[in-house]
Amino acid sequence: MSVRVRFAPSPTGFVHVGGLRTALYNYLFAKANQGTYLLRIEDTDQERLVEGAVESMLRSLDWAGIHHTEGVMLDDQGRVVEKGNKGPYIQSRRLSVYRSHMDKLLASGHAYPCFCSKERLEIVREKERMEKGTPRYDGHCRQLEKEEVEKRLKNGETHVIRLKLPEKEEIRFDDLVRGTVSVSTEDLDDQVLLKSDGYPTYHFAVVVDDHLMEITHVIRGEEWLASTPKHVYLYQAMGWETPTYVHLPNILNTDRKKLSKRHGDVSAEDFQRKGYLPEALVNYLALIGWSPEDNQEIFSIDELEKSFSLKRVSKSGGVFDVKKLNWMNTHYIREADLEELTRLAIPYLIESGYLQEQTVESQKQWVRNFLEVIRENLHYLAELPEKAAVFFQDSIQPEDGEAAEWWESEELTILRPALQKAVESMATMTPEEIKPAFKALQKETGLKGPQFFKPVRVALTGKVHGPDLILIMKVLGKETVLHRLR
Ligand code: GLU
Repeated sequence: MSVRVRFAPSPTGFVHVGGLRTALYNYLFAKANQGTYLLRIEDTDQERLVEGAVESMLRSLDWAGIHHTEGVMLDDQGRVVEKGNKGPYIQSRRLSVYRSHMDKLLASGHAYPCFCSKERLEIVREKERMEKGTPRYDGHCRQLEKEEVEKRLKNGETHVIRLKLPEKEEIRFDDLVRGTVSVSTEDLDDQVLLKSDGYPTYHFAVVVDDHLMEITHVIRGEEWLASTPKHVYLYQAMGWETPTYVHLPNILNTDRKKLSKRHGDVSAEDFQRKGYLPEALVNYLALIGWSPEDNQEIFSIDELEKSFSLKRVSKSGGVFDVKKLNWMNTHYIREADLEELTRLAIPYLIESGYLQEQTVESQKQWVRNFLEVIRENLHYLAELPEKAAVFFQDSIQPEDGEAAEWWESEELTILRPALQKAVESMATMTPEEIKPAFKALQKETGLKGPQFFKPVRVALTGKVHGPDLILIMKVLGKETVLHRLR
């Protein structure tokens, strides 16, 4: 049987990095096994629908380069379409499918209608919480007589349908990461499977869909592990074969708490907006929870496709360390094609007012020069305005005490007029011109190393440290350099 896996997001509107990693692992596993990776939308919670959410999530996945070949996707015009012969792939379009499978479960006695009101459930839950520590349904409607049930259904009484779990039975399943998991039904609730609005709950829909879509491996976040016994029981009740389960470890913040929105950037969109390159984010996420056989850290997606295996997915949570991600992003920024990087950088410089939309074409060369200078130490593109500031300031001030000392120094008093003279005689301001001029000046003034570079840098940028000074001068241009020296 060929491998079929899925990513099944609920349309919240953004793809959490944990979700992005789940999508990635599914994608990589399918690639490694010549299988199929599909995308399904789980929108059974109609109260939580967000307009445009599906589109934006699909765009994020496209941006990340994690492409699926079946299920819900965007067409050339950015419209949501479905592809494949096991659809619909959007759960809200499958209500009749759930209904017919529910009828089978009811007929076989594995599910029952529950008429309990919200108020009653509240009271029961509270009582159970006090007595047993976990809020559970007390099974009140399990015992109803068949005739009574039929009468109440006929009367159109509001109800849900619950799973009828056997009493005191062990449910076991194997998880590729966690080994054998065993849970007693005593610790499980009679899960609601169909809500009073006619929509299935996640738990019912996921089982029906994974079965009908012939999913062989369910690869998903650890947060679903506790629900899996109920799913496994449902498979048994339906007489279906269970898929192989793979629960991925949580992504934690540096305090080892589960990474959530409260900790700042958590969605693919956040990182895209900040100017992380998708290659870097994907590379970094691949390594949270999976480790390669050697110590390699930089992986293109092609390389990941070749190296990834579920065997090397760990049980324990992996820490999301922005510093490490920044390091990786800097690596990818350094390696990026300069044209492509220029294209990506321009919007940040327009937004901050350093470039104008109308004249940007004529400033492209400047952007290239600028990127060449600063990309060595750039963490992400949203840092560009801050890096650009020094090139656009009208007047330069020393930024700290050390800079102020050089600003007032005897060295600078000597170097300033000499450098001014040298620059005036330059035709353009290329490194080929600047380098020999520096050499000559060093010889002439006897100032070398830091005694030469620090005062010149402070005069031109206000800073003691920074990127290659010759390249900075090239980016500043002759006029600005002279202006600053004067
Ligand atoms: N819809 C669930 C989510 O958004 C998917 C869970 C699963 O993969 O089974 O997390």
